[in-house]
Amino acid sequence: VAALFGIDLGGTNTKVGLVGPKGIINLASIPTRVDLGPQAWLERLIKCTGSLLNQAGIDPSGMQGAGIDSPGGLDPERTKIVFAPNLKTFNGYPLRDSVEKALSLPTVLENDANAYAYGEFYFGAGKGCHDLICITLGTGVGGGIIINQEIVTGPMGIGGELGHITVEPDGRVCGCGNQGCIESYASATGFRGMLAEALKAGRQTSLKAGDDVKEMAGAAGAGDKVALEMFDKAAVALGRGVASMVVATGIDLYVVGAGISRSFEPLMKKAFEKELKKRLCMADPALIRVVTSTLGNKAAVMGAAAWAARCLKLNWQLDITD
Ligand SMILES: [Zn+2]
Repeated sequence: VAALFGIDLGGTNTKVGLVGPKGIINLASIPTRVDLGPQAWLERLIKCTGSLLNQAGIDPSGMQGAGIDSPGGLDPERTKIVFAPNLKTFNGYPLRDSVEKALSLPTVLENDANAYAYGEFYFGAGKGCHDLICITLGTGVGGGIIINQEIVTGPMGIGGELGHITVEPDGRVCGCGNQGCIESYASATGFRGMLAEALKAGRQTSLKAGDDVKEMAGAAGAGDKVALEMFDKAAVALGRGVASMVVATGIDLYVVGAGISRSFEPLMKKAFEKELKKRLCMADPALIRVVTSTLGNKAAVMGAAAWAARCLKLNWQLDITD
């Protein structure tokens, strides 16, 4: 069996998958326990990969490598996390080399949104395409650009940070320090901020302080004006962002993933399409396909492994038409 480990490191849990060219063979999850530090995490990881192999009846000698993905900023060489607010004890830790040593397997590290994009490209909504852009609408807004089957990050390693495209020059302040990023509106953080502002302004709404995007989606579905406005703002931000991405890259396929993407079809698509049509004049907006993720929360673990297979030149057979 040709297989790799896919390791999706998150602030709370780490998903560990045994991934082959056709998809996930076996999947498990371990608590990350940031408070206990990366060394204790590595020990849990070793146990977990061992039992995954056992359960699948795969000989460890058949394993070809490991792909790991993590949130936050990575160094351009992809050896460590430079800054991830939810992974404090991992910041600066030599993550790639430590995993490589612990598992005795060649290991590739990539940003989580890039891994997500590659997963959708290889196994999911982009299967059969050469190019796509993936936008994850979660706590923040992540992005991944795949061009000619490669993750594009540029010499600075930050390419694909699509959540921080400016869509409202004087808009809401973003966690990155800029104003009016896509993330300022189309993320859970953005939604919570917009709700707090509406409540402070004394707007009439069924929502209350501390409500999450799920409650906001419910309220919008029931016709709550404030909730509907927030989804509209998020959709417009996304429409402006995608219009810019189209002219910057010429890519026609956009995959929307993570939590808020569940609200894309019912609550955002109409306003999104209207804004895209308004902003995109260099190309026919009807040529732009926007679809929701097909792999969901497995996209990153699958993409981390498939990307590692590509970086390690393992020659997985890609199912690309033409
Ligand atoms: Zn930003």
